[in-house]
Amino acid sequence: MNELKYALPEGRVLTDPDVTASYGRDRTFLEPGKARAVVLAQSRDDVVATLRWASEHQVPVVPRGAGTGLAGGSTAVDGCVILSLHRMTAIRELSAGDEIAVVEPGVITADLDRAAREHGLMYAPDPSSYEISTIGGNLATNAGGLRCVKYGVTRDSALGLEVVLADGRILNTGRRTVKGVTGYDLTSLFVGSEGTLGVITLATVRLRRAPAPPATVAAEFTSAVDAASAVSAIIAAGCQPSLLELIDHATLRAIDDWKNIGLEPGTRAMLIAQSEDGAEQRMAGLCEENGASNVAVEEDGSELVGLRRLAYPAKERLGQCLVEDVCVPRTALPEMIARIEAAAAAHDVLICTVAHAGDGNLHPVFVFERGLPEPPPNVWAAADEVFRAALDLGGTLTGEHGVGLLKRRWLALECGPVVTEIHHGIKQLFDPQNILNPGKAI
Ligand SMILES: Cc1cc2nc3c(=O)[nH]c(=O)nc-3n(C[C@H](O)[C@H](O)[C@H](O)COP(=O)(O)OP(=O)(O)OC[C@H]3O[C@@H](n4cnc5c(N)ncnc54)[C@H](O)[C@@H]3O)c2cc1C
Repeated sequence: MNELKYALPEGRVLTDPDVTASYGRDRTFLEPGKARAVVLAQSRDDVVATLRWASEHQVPVVPRGAGTGLAGGSTAVDGCVILSLHRMTAIRELSAGDEIAVVEPGVITADLDRAAREHGLMYAPDPSSYEISTIGGNLATNAGGLRCVKYGVTRDSALGLEVVLADGRILNTGRRTVKGVTGYDLTSLFVGSEGTLGVITLATVRLRRAPAPPATVAAEFTSAVDAASAVSAIIAAGCQPSLLELIDHATLRAIDDWKNIGLEPGTRAMLIAQSEDGAEQRMAGLCEENGASNVAVEEDGSELVGLRRLAYPAKERLGQCLVEDVCVPRTALPEMIARIEAAAAAHDVLICTVAHAGDGNLHPVFVFERGLPEPPPNVWAAADEVFRAALDLGGTLTGEHGVGLLKRRWLALECGPVVTEIHHGIKQLFDPQNILNPGKAI
């Protein structure tokens, strides 16, 4: 540890057990391992020095942004150094002419969006956590969000990366041009690699022209399956919403208990849809055709969208949460909702579901008693049923949160032996000593 302290400027290495413990958790219930230190990196050089030291001594390193992850990706492993990037917050360049920004990994997502807006641009990926999560964490998990139904996920905005490899070498991937196909697409490989292949220290990201404020449709349904059918109909009709979110009854109740939104007793689900292209009346009509009990079109939907962003903290008030993140083809959404409801009933579990429904991405949140070290068997059984249902319907285990530690037990169901072997071969190439976020993602 002394060697590491000498290699870094004063004050970068923290070893107080209370401090290391507080940096060891993300937003899951998972009990972290015991970290030996936290490094508060402020520059690429700090990252290089840390990784050189770690590879020399074979010490595990857990990269960390803001710790808002929902899969256990940034939870500490025993004996590790937590490499926190949250102090690297510079927006180095913002070019309106090239519609790009060059940013350090600790920049808060919404801060980049606000900076872009000053130039008539926007940074499109907007996870619900965008006021608290970092660009580095978003890149490492390939985060999605509410606007992604129209503008794509984080990978669609990532052009180039500076990455420090496990042995301290610096790798520059990608480009700052609109197009570019030189060599393998290493940028895409690092996006979503959950800190297991390298540490992102700089990113060139795509910005887009900021659209006119969208019109909002709010539709209430007496059945969540009907709401999901309306989503499938909106997509099939080619409406191109810029946001299409589904909130189920249990989640609406959690928000209502907290914020008193005046939830009608018969409302079992709500859809929030936005259009920047004048498709709001068409979407409202499709909601009515699919059984909506109440439909309103509003000019300013920001309050409604704000409530949607409160869905997860509202559920955290009910107990501990096991958060799933399955994604299914959008035509399968009604069936997936029905299977989640069936799993909740069969295993007697409270499941609150919100969905980036326009992407087919559902977040069934399994609520269990506070104080338990992990979910009880009936919760695991319900979760297992939901994962298997998603795969059965042609879907995937995780749409945007990543595998982390939480979903590793189901990974083989989706990946199979050949994909697993290739994953491990890639890991071996980039991190032969297995020091970068070991035990996560693959
Ligand atoms: C209220 C709430 C709402 C959320 N809504 C969404 C949502 O809509 N969409 C969505 O996708 N997610 C959502 N999330 C999950 C979470 O915010 C995202 O996964 C986010 O991308 C994590 O960013 P972070 O900075 O907190 O990263 P962390 O949680 O610190 O880390 C996440 C992963 O990235 C790795 N990592 C972090 N920084 C780097 C780096 N610089 N280089 C290499 N690896 C790195 C870590 O090792 C870890 O594996 C939500 C979470 C909360 C609490």
